[in-house]
Amino acid sequence: MNDYLVKAVAYQNQIRAYAVNSTATVAEAQRRHAAKPTATDALGRSMTAGVILGAMLKGEEKVSVKINGGGPLGTIMVDSNAKGEVRGYVSHPQTEMEINEVGKAVGMNGLLTVSKDVGLMHPFVGQIPLISGEIGEDYTSYLSKSEQTASAVGVDVLVNSDSTVKAAGGFIIQLMPGADEEVLNIIKDRMKVIAPLSSMISEGSTPEQLLEHVLGSENVTVLESMPVRFQCQCSVDRITNAIISLGSEEIQDMIETDGHAEANCHFCNEFYYFDTEHLQALKEVAL
Ligand code: ZN
Repeated sequence: MNDYLVKAVAYQNQIRAYAVNSTATVAEAQRRHAAKPTATDALGRSMTAGVILGAMLKGEEKVSVKINGGGPLGTIMVDSNAKGEVRGYVSHPQTEMEINEVGKAVGMNGLLTVSKDVGLMHPFVGQIPLISGEIGEDYTSYLSKSEQTASAVGVDVLVNSDSTVKAAGGFIIQLMPGADEEVLNIIKDRMKVIAPLSSMISEGSTPEQLLEHVLGSENVTVLESMPVRFQCQCSVDRITNAIISLGSEEIQDMIETDGHAEANCHFCNEFYYFDTEHLQALKEVAL
């Protein structure tokens, strides 16, 4: 089944809610980075929350989320947009932990930084210190403190023993401006008694079912759904333009020194190779 995200309202429009099944998206990231289970879990959680942040945007707007908690995984980067496209990487995807401990692998001595490109000259940047490195709690803290929107974020990834992804998904629930704070307390109380998110996700719940589970089926109105997928923004054209922009002297230097040029995209691990003949052709069009 293809991944998708739903946008909903609940409790007489006092709550705005999003949920996503990101299983195939996280599986693609795991394959591309050959990530071990803990790295897949951490990256997948941030991609799941990140794709929802992207779905809150409009048109050509984009969002990047950087998490660095000083733990063995290094930096986790996620880019997303309003079209449901998300990509991401973790500095050390081969990191293996004794148990599947995301918080310890991410670390909590660092920051979660969100950068939103909404078409203005400078991006909007918000930053918070990490709470636990468990990702969901850290996104909750970011939305509540930096965007001043009382929120609850739940994200989870289940990894098979052969490192492939069994299931991934999550939700973000937000109190609309002017809403009754009591509504948030009702939801918090519900969350204490309902089955954990991981069991919902492992059972393959749809995004609609996730929201009904958390908010109560009688309270949720789904407004729209949209596909989500792993999609990098790199391409042969982009790399070609980057090489051309170096100028003919620099390209000649590459031809003489290495006889070729190569580039590796951090986000999708795609490898680009340009041989001498190709570089000669690019040199002709460069300034
Ligand atoms: Zn790429």
